[in-house]
Amino acid sequence: MLYDAVDSLQTLPLWQAALWVTLANVGMFIAALGAGELITRRFSKNRITPEPGPLTRHEKQLAAVCVVLNALVAVAGVLLWREGVIDLRPSGEYSTLTVLADAAVLFVAMDFAMYVFHRVAHHPLLYPIAHRTHHVYESPRPLTLFVLNPIEVLGFGALWLVLLVLYTASIEGILAYLAFNLAFGLVAHLGVEPAPKLWLRLPLLRYVSTSTFHAEHHMDRFHNFGFYLLVWDRLFGTLSPDYLADFSQATGAIPATAR
Ligand SMILES: [Zn+2]
Ligand SMILES: [Zn+2]
Repeated sequence: MLYDAVDSLQTLPLWQAALWVTLANVGMFIAALGAGELITRRFSKNRITPEPGPLTRHEKQLAAVCVVLNALVAVAGVLLWREGVIDLRPSGEYSTLTVLADAAVLFVAMDFAMYVFHRVAHHPLLYPIAHRTHHVYESPRPLTLFVLNPIEVLGFGALWLVLLVLYTASIEGILAYLAFNLAFGLVAHLGVEPAPKLWLRLPLLRYVSTSTFHAEHHMDRFHNFGFYLLVWDRLFGTLSPDYLADFSQATGAIPATAR
């Protein structure tokens, strides 16, 4: 079923394949906003940032452009795959372990690359060109995930396609990564903290980013450049010194002493 759907992207007329990937992008956008609305209501007591003001027309326009450009990136991916520039593992010739390894490689590689590019985007010479658009919104809400300068949307899209050219992954690994990416992006822009109080005391999971982690970046653009993991910020000394205190405050947990 999955293979039939994916294979059809290679055999359908291009306009039909483009229509399907566009619909998929619009579907993900609607699902993310719907889930975001439910989660922010459910955890409204765990506010990290002040309640955002009314939605502006500019925010809506940027989000709409972002969805269209994401669909264009996906169409470019399909084209590169049709041309044999992007290779997928042949169906039925790999195990579940390979799928998990693919998802993990894509997850860690993209997280590291995005950390590097995010820091570069904050360079004083480059910051006004593109990334400043996203930082207009100090109090994020789920839609903020899509409120990006078009240059940035295409930049991240290009990064993702380059990784797919360099690394031959399974389709399940790619889809798992895309689902993770959407989930992490959404969590990052909730403005409330849904993670349990104990999160920062859990082995390994404490190195996985939380809503507080990226909300802090919106309030303080000199810290927390990672997206999925805290490891790069810890390694390069850019983790917010207030992370533990802000997380504890949002969840109502007693601040822990050890990091
Ligand atoms: Zn953000
Ligand atoms: Zn930033």
